[in-house]
Amino acid sequence: VGINGAILMGASERPGAASFQAVEAATGAPMPQLYAEALADDVDAACALAEEAAAGFGALPPPERAAFLDTIPDQIGDLGDLLIATAMAETGLPRARLEGERGRTVGQLRMFCDELRRGRYLDVTIEPALPEHTPPRPDLRRMAVPLGPVAVFGASNFPLAFSAAGGDTAAALAAGCPVIVKGHPAHPGTGELVTRAIRVAVERHGLHEGVFSYLPGSRHELGAALVADRRIRAVGFTGSRAGGLALVEIASARAEPNPVFAEMSSINPVVLMPGALGRGWGQLARGFAASLMLGAGQFCTNPGLVIAIEGEALDAFVQEAASALSMAAPQVMLSPAIRQAYEAAVAALDACAGALRVYGSAPAGACGGSLFRTTASAFLADEALAKEVFGACSLVIGCSGMAEIARVLERLEGQLTATLHLESADEADAAALLPILASLAGRVLVNGWPTGVEVSAAMVHGGPFPATSDGRSTSVGTLAMQRFLRAVCYQGVPDALLPAALKRANPWRLPRLVAGNPEPS
Ligand code: NAP
Repeated sequence: VGINGAILMGASERPGAASFQAVEAATGAPMPQLYAEALADDVDAACALAEEAAAGFGALPPPERAAFLDTIPDQIGDLGDLLIATAMAETGLPRARLEGERGRTVGQLRMFCDELRRGRYLDVTIEPALPEHTPPRPDLRRMAVPLGPVAVFGASNFPLAFSAAGGDTAAALAAGCPVIVKGHPAHPGTGELVTRAIRVAVERHGLHEGVFSYLPGSRHELGAALVADRRIRAVGFTGSRAGGLALVEIASARAEPNPVFAEMSSINPVVLMPGALGRGWGQLARGFAASLMLGAGQFCTNPGLVIAIEGEALDAFVQEAASALSMAAPQVMLSPAIRQAYEAAVAALDACAGALRVYGSAPAGACGGSLFRTTASAFLADEALAKEVFGACSLVIGCSGMAEIARVLERLEGQLTATLHLESADEADAAALLPILASLAGRVLVNGWPTGVEVSAAMVHGGPFPATSDGRSTSVGTLAMQRFLRAVCYQGVPDALLPAALKRANPWRLPRLVAGNPEPS
């Protein structure tokens, strides 16, 4: 397996009329490999293939789709160190982080295999006919069906777990939807290698080639054309707020508007309750600094806001956090453009009269972390202080009491996470804050740090706008499949004509609800 920069259209490869180059994260220097710029014709061809593949792929028995998904991790594994070395050069992320991310990527593919084999995702619900009722009730059978071709946009900060074979792709393929990935221009070599692994799995299982295509490109026009194509039924996106909103706008302006599941922007408030802060400010400060510096702060779950009651314990926390940050090794950011955006955002905070910089080092070419402090009244008076900074920057807000903490939380936009640090003496106050946190965020944590998202059935990586464009869903965990499914009810359909999932004999041996009760197996 190698990289040649082609457009990977189903099973075939196309050269591009124009090309672009990736940039080495550490130096900003263009890398030698040329990558094709996919154009409108390529979007058209990929969508035609995906549409052709949709019905057959969507109708596969779940264990067959699981067997296909199960092959992708093996193929990714076979890419070996070439994958890690390519991603390291393109993103500047360290080896250990990328190896961990690869583990997460293959782990989430396998999680969806298990979910398919269990069959619960189809949510089969049967209400047998009641001819004696007045009026008589017909036989009603409901199941989930795939939406059709899905467009996926990866993020620069997760070249594996939120990219070509990332969470959105895994969830859409598991749901039975063909996928077209708009390749991220910051890691085109990584995207191509992973696509080649997926293509082997498609071929090995004799699937239609349109199940997966990869369109490399560095211009917004490409993604815009893909989202606008009438054959695309849904969009999965992770990235910036501006990018996500642009795609939402394109999808809603279509003659047939489309759902866009965009995971965009979050500052992840962390509340240090008085009991926990008074007793454990040192440990809290060190834990906070480690979470903030993870991956140079380039995580959508980065703790960008710390909220606590003013006093000696908070002063000590801030001092200790600054000291821990000063000891953390500066890190290369994903690209020079992202580093410049980070530096500009930190400079904007410096210019805010209400914020005081308590720590900040900016070694040339790297990110060393920044910490600011403000008061609740200054924060509530200046919207600029609530802006997301992509990178290791956080703001500590000192409040006069619990009521002011609640006011600060109530002012925040939707979040991916909201965290409380507490001990037993804090529980009564925490009980009052929890409903606010649950209305604010997709995930509420106690005594943990928001970075590090478990890939599991109960996980929610989503939240009210602008954390996501649709707060009813998640982009991590098995529930993510539901974004690419819709419910269909079959009424009075003879058994011979019903899909296998709904037939009386239950040939797929699915868990089903019949007249409100689990069907005996
Ligand atoms: P991004 O710039 O939004 O890009 C994500 C994907 O969407 C790319 O494939 C990009 O490709 C495409 N795209 C972006 N804007 C588009 C538009 N207007 N129309 C059509 N396609 C569009 O996200 P990112 O690369 O992950 O991060 C870059 C910046 O976003 C960073 O500077 C960071 O400050 C900010 N950000 C990222 C995250 C995150 O979790 N990833 C969170 C917060 C903020 P093209 O550019 O080729 O069109």
